[in-house]
Amino acid sequence: MKIQRSSLATDSTLYVVPTPIGNLGDMTPRAVEILNMVDIIFAEDTRVTKNLLSHFNIQNKLKSYHSFNEEVVAKEIITNLNDKLNVAIVSDAGLPAISDPGFFVVNLALEAGFSVVSLPGANAALTALVASGIPSERFYFYGFLKHKKSQKEKELLSLVDFKDTIIFYESPHRIKETIDIMYKVFKNRKVVIARELTKRYEEYIRSDLETLSKEELNLKGEIVIVVSGADIASDVLKLNELTIEEHYNYYINQGMDRKDAMKQVAKDRNISKSEVYKILINDPL
Ligand code: SAM
Repeated sequence: MKIQRSSLATDSTLYVVPTPIGNLGDMTPRAVEILNMVDIIFAEDTRVTKNLLSHFNIQNKLKSYHSFNEEVVAKEIITNLNDKLNVAIVSDAGLPAISDPGFFVVNLALEAGFSVVSLPGANAALTALVASGIPSERFYFYGFLKHKKSQKEKELLSLVDFKDTIIFYESPHRIKETIDIMYKVFKNRKVVIARELTKRYEEYIRSDLETLSKEELNLKGEIVIVVSGADIASDVLKLNELTIEEHYNYYINQGMDRKDAMKQVAKDRNISKSEVYKILINDPL
């Protein structure tokens, strides 16, 4: 067990500093203070961070830290911490380590015994969630899905029974395909596309997957997708309107084996397995 009391951190601390996701007004005073105070800042894209620093009149040493050089630079950061320097990491927008580089160096710094202090601030997923109108009490942040259609479908299938809200990041080029696959896999559910958050053309499209799957969705900018979780109770009610054979075939098509599908049908309909079996006798186990 290791206990870190951040208020006692004097030197050799790694600061994880959030930056705005579009609106510079969302830079926190504490983020500015820490970026002024540390000895060196490691940034995902130094050109992006240079502009940010100059806007806030922060003059500090800036070095590159992105996903391609993450492991090498993480070691350099540890060397800096060993040299009793304070270090900050920032990404292009939002919280480092959330669909951005950061986790690797945080972990390495902790293993080496240094304090890691994270500052709260802008984050696209949470910003979208709280205004989505989709339950926010429990949710699952998924981040980016894989690009390949078949892999994306497989990833979504693994989430199909998940009851809580799910948040995805997506690019505008892939949004149409992603919504269509979501509709295919999740069937109809509430969905919100939150676009260009905190920026001039901020937009929330609050709809459902069936409606959106019929739209062109020629969208630009940065996008968060918030989807409601599986409504198992109502799904089961709908399944119970099918014949037992159709009900069983539904689970088979979802990838269940025959025995599990039969068990599930029995459970959904509150009948015994042998009753289901009798009806499915033409499709014996
Ligand atoms: N670390 C960031 C965070 O804390 O939100 C996320 C970085 S990730 C590389 C970038 C993705 O976040 C974008 O492709 C988009 O899905 C989402 N995103 C970032 N800024 C956004 C914004 N202003 N509006 C909507 N989505 C945004």
